[in-house]
Amino acid sequence: MNIVLLGPPGAGKGTQAERMSDRHGLPRVATGDIFRAALAEGTPLGLEAKRFMDTGKLVPDEIVEGIVTGRLGDADCRGGFILDGFPRNTHQAEALDRYLASRGGEIDVIISIAVEPEELVRRLTGRRVCGGCGANYHVSFNVPSREGACDACGGELYQRDDDNEGIVRSRLDVYKSSTEPLIEYYRPLGRLVSVDGSGSPDEVFTEISGAIDAATEREGR
Ligand code: ADP
Ligand code: AMP
Repeated sequence: MNIVLLGPPGAGKGTQAERMSDRHGLPRVATGDIFRAALAEGTPLGLEAKRFMDTGKLVPDEIVEGIVTGRLGDADCRGGFILDGFPRNTHQAEALDRYLASRGGEIDVIISIAVEPEELVRRLTGRRVCGGCGANYHVSFNVPSREGACDACGGELYQRDDDNEGIVRSRLDVYKSSTEPLIEYYRPLGRLVSVDGSGSPDEVFTEISGAIDAATEREGR
């Protein structure tokens, strides 16, 4: 099952992708995480990506597309994957379609998660991320048992540089102009599922799981 998670920054894509990955045994491919890992290692890719991430702009298509097609070629993605944060514009969506077609595949389901902009700002400005395992927390909505430490691995929690309000608002503008049109790009396929992301993580997960189960049945897998 090849799944794309669409939605603005802060919609809960990472939170839901982790749960989906556990439930369906599919790898989560998150382009933002790939860039942050490259940056932490100080690679040229990471340093190049940082120039764009720092201002909330999209990393150029040819860089992201090369990274994603390379990653989807790995053995663990053969049985399916969950894309989180890619594609982010029509050029990337077309590149993904071409790549999948070249190996006889396609996207099976697109989950579009919607949340009101002011709620997105609250979620992103309060987000904390584990430096060890990447788990997500929130200062009010998803508080770790011990302040500043990850429940899963004990790692130290940090705030992403691009999660300050000014950059968050730029990222939401970029979403609106570049990424949101993908909803209409995918709609004609008949595989787009719109999910209300404003409920609790459990509620959103229940809705997404139902959609994936229906898609699995439809595909006869
Ligand atoms: P995305 O990957 O779409 O940018 P995240 O999954 O990182 O979004 O979630 C953004 C922030 O909102 C995180 O701090 C996360 O803990 C919190 N969050 C995620 N889902 C919900 C939800 N349903 N209700 C409240 N807060 C949430
Ligand atoms: P995310 O972790 O998904 O919020 O992404 C963080 C940042 O990484 C974005 O603001 C972009 O600068 C960059 N990025 C992640 N995915 C992509 C993508 N598919 N295309 C371009 N830039 C991306």
